[in-house]
Amino acid sequence: MAKKSSSRSKSPRRVSRKAKSVKSLPEHEFEFGGPVGAFATMVALPLVIYFLYFAASSTYKCNLVSIADIREVLMDSFKLDTFFNVNAVLYVLGWLVLCVSMERFLFSEIVEGTKLKNGSTLKYRINGHLQFWVTLLIFTHGYPRFGEDGKFIGLSSFKLSWIYDNYLPMATSAILISIALSIYLYWRSHRKGVLLADGGNTGNRIYDFFIGRELNPRISDFDLKEFCELRPGLIGWLLINLGCAAKQFESDGAVSPSMVLINVFQGLYVWDALYHERAILTTMDITTDGFGYMLAFGDLAWVPFTYSLQARYLVENDPQLSIPVLCVICLLNFTGYAIFRGANSEKDAFRRNPQAPEVAHLETLTTKSGRKLLVSGWWGVARKINYTGDWLMGLAWCLTTGFDCIVTYFYAIYFCILLIHRSLRDNEACEKKYGNDWPAYQAKVPYAFIPGVY
Ligand code: NDP
Repeated sequence: MAKKSSSRSKSPRRVSRKAKSVKSLPEHEFEFGGPVGAFATMVALPLVIYFLYFAASSTYKCNLVSIADIREVLMDSFKLDTFFNVNAVLYVLGWLVLCVSMERFLFSEIVEGTKLKNGSTLKYRINGHLQFWVTLLIFTHGYPRFGEDGKFIGLSSFKLSWIYDNYLPMATSAILISIALSIYLYWRSHRKGVLLADGGNTGNRIYDFFIGRELNPRISDFDLKEFCELRPGLIGWLLINLGCAAKQFESDGAVSPSMVLINVFQGLYVWDALYHERAILTTMDITTDGFGYMLAFGDLAWVPFTYSLQARYLVENDPQLSIPVLCVICLLNFTGYAIFRGANSEKDAFRRNPQAPEVAHLETLTTKSGRKLLVSGWWGVARKINYTGDWLMGLAWCLTTGFDCIVTYFYAIYFCILLIHRSLRDNEACEKKYGNDWPAYQAKVPYAFIPGVY
């Protein structure tokens, strides 16, 4: 839960130094346990990536007792080249350059974002969906090769299993790049006239570095936050999964049903996010949160290197699930997807045009702000039914790994915590936005996630 407290009580030094202007200081609120929590989170998250790597590896085989013997793990595994190699850094940097080039040069639709607090709006290049397909084409069919005379001589294919073999050094590269990006973002957020995020301007350096100061950092019209949110990490996750499938094929001569399912399920999830790219422009990540370590690390390191845990585990530990079990898992995933997509599309359509035929019949509650809230359809079932659908998909992903290893269920456990925390943050934001109308809305739609239960 986001513990909130005033920054004045947490940063006495800051107040005394600026005693003269105390009256004009805004009341800031801390989340994530304030500066101490932010610092602990920054240190802990990269360690979790390494922990998960070893915990689900063939050496430790999800044996939590032996993993707990940290000394043994370090003695066994702490060689620099296990964690780091220059090729991996170049590969990850090359991937980022490729993503930026595609964002810049592929055909794009220009879409306006929501109104910012200074009254302006920003324009975004929407071409993530095209980038998804072009990337798949390049990595599965190869990239063009040219002779010395500049003539096209054929396609060179990527060895996708290389990604699996270099998983840990690539994770380290992504961690280092996300830290470097966070430092750059923090530094540039001190320029004059920058639009700062409300939550990232407390004056506490550690906290602001973590949560993100500048709302929409851009280099010319290149939007760093929107780019990182959807492209390198999300599509990178898909490539890692394909790398795992390629590795399994190389060693077993076949790709197992569980591996096929995890690639299809998570591929669908990534495709969906990019197909609905413009929907991200109204999320709190874009409209409210600054761009700092939290999002930079999350987008570039956390998502690709923890969300691919199941595929990586399956390379060496396929559980050989029976067809009925695989069918149940499919049913769970597609039920989750139907709820997730149905709810998100319904709200998106409603917010864009409440008179649109597919949403015009829905019951609404009109708030004093003039904005309406849906109280029927998906949004009448539960206030965060879209999160429930998302979580069900996550559970289905974990189930593809069978029942021998608790570590591969990390995603379902972590995502449950993330979604509860996120819903509390959103709830507070809505309380501020809608005042007394929000409790009235909660009375009409009493359940948060599961109708009749919670
Ligand atoms: P929501 O899509 O739930 O958006 C919340 C906003 O929706 C509110 O602030 C409010 O804004 C509006 N809203 C809430 N209730 C109603 C209603 N009844 N009628 C109309 N509008 C309403 O949250 P997120 O942006 O957090 O999530 C979007 C999706 O992304 C979710 O499906 C989530 O699961 C997924 N997600 C996935 C993550 C991952 O790592 N895989 C991480 C985070 C999210 P307003 O009224 O101003 O429009």
